[in-house]
Amino acid sequence: MKLYVEDDVKSSTLEGARIAVLGYGSQGRAHALNLKDSGHNVVVGLRPDGESWAKAQADGLDVAAPEAAAKDADLIAFLVPDMAQAAVYEQVRDQIKPGAALLFAHGFNIHYGQIAAPAELDVILVAPKGPGDLVRRQYEQDRGVPCLFAIEKDASGQARDRALEYAHGIGGTRAGVLETTFAEETETDLFGEQAVLCGGATELVLQGFDTLTEAGYQPEVAYFECMHELKLIVDLLYEGGLAKMHEFVSETAKYGDLTRGPRVIDDHTRERMREVLGEIRDGTFAREWIQENADGRKEYQRLMDKDLAHPVEKVGRQLRECMSWLKAKRARAA
Ligand code: NAD
Ligand code: MG
Repeated sequence: MKLYVEDDVKSSTLEGARIAVLGYGSQGRAHALNLKDSGHNVVVGLRPDGESWAKAQADGLDVAAPEAAAKDADLIAFLVPDMAQAAVYEQVRDQIKPGAALLFAHGFNIHYGQIAAPAELDVILVAPKGPGDLVRRQYEQDRGVPCLFAIEKDASGQARDRALEYAHGIGGTRAGVLETTFAEETETDLFGEQAVLCGGATELVLQGFDTLTEAGYQPEVAYFECMHELKLIVDLLYEGGLAKMHEFVSETAKYGDLTRGPRVIDDHTRERMREVLGEIRDGTFAREWIQENADGRKEYQRLMDKDLAHPVEKVGRQLRECMSWLKAKRARAA
């Protein structure tokens, strides 16, 4: 598998090209600013009555309505939320010139058939493997967030060059860029966030916290143990894998990990993970999420309210109030 780095980007198909970035949230702001600082010609497409308009202008960017931004653009990056992309595509599609590229940062709408691009357009993916504010912050520090790229349709004959140059422009090649497909990116990304990252990790924390507090231990102690310390362990894994974590934890922790860990996360968990992956692959999850949006997200809101009402949130807020570096950060933000 080839990891593309800065020296691998030799083409200049995006030099002088007009890049329209639709949306100015987590990824949109980071891509627009990084591309501009990399010397590209960027326009941000936003709703004239939206909150982001003034923000993008204050950041020094050209701003226009989505239709006006898409008109004459050589590449259009769809960085509005996944559930808004199909409607935004309908809104701008008549303006898009033949030979232009549609770019996505997550493959959902192409993979699940919510956007069907005509034959004369390129369809490409550049997906940073990190949140947008990190894509910006790392770029400002001469670093980058690794990216995946994929080509769904190469109408111009330049789709690959365009995708790699875009990944380069947002700083991705500083960390390394890997080739994937829309199917692989979409399915692995959904699986990761559901089973391991957002879903799996938070449920593990909550189950651990509840087990300790039910048994009568202080919630503050349970919080430090199950939520706060997780970051210290994850940092070690991030820096040097299992080996580095083992280097830094006690012998007793290592023995407990090796003998008890597989009892907590076991074959049942694996079976549930396979089910979750199955629902992603056969489209069940996508249909459910699209329907939930169409129905006004009532179930989503109910579950979110329940999550945020968990006792770990209350004790966590109180403890974080006291942490000096978080206090300093709040003071700077105020
Ligand atoms: P976001 O929710 O942070 O921002 C979306 C922006 O679009 C906001 O400026 C919002 O005001 C605007 N917007 C919302 N609805 C709109 C509409 N109907 N019309 C026009 N503009 C509208 O979105 P995000 O998290 O940056 O996600 C953008 C894309 O990037 C998605 O495809 C997502 O899957 C992908 N992605 C996100 C992350 C991440 O960490 N957030 C990481 C990798 C990929
Ligand atoms: Mg992801």
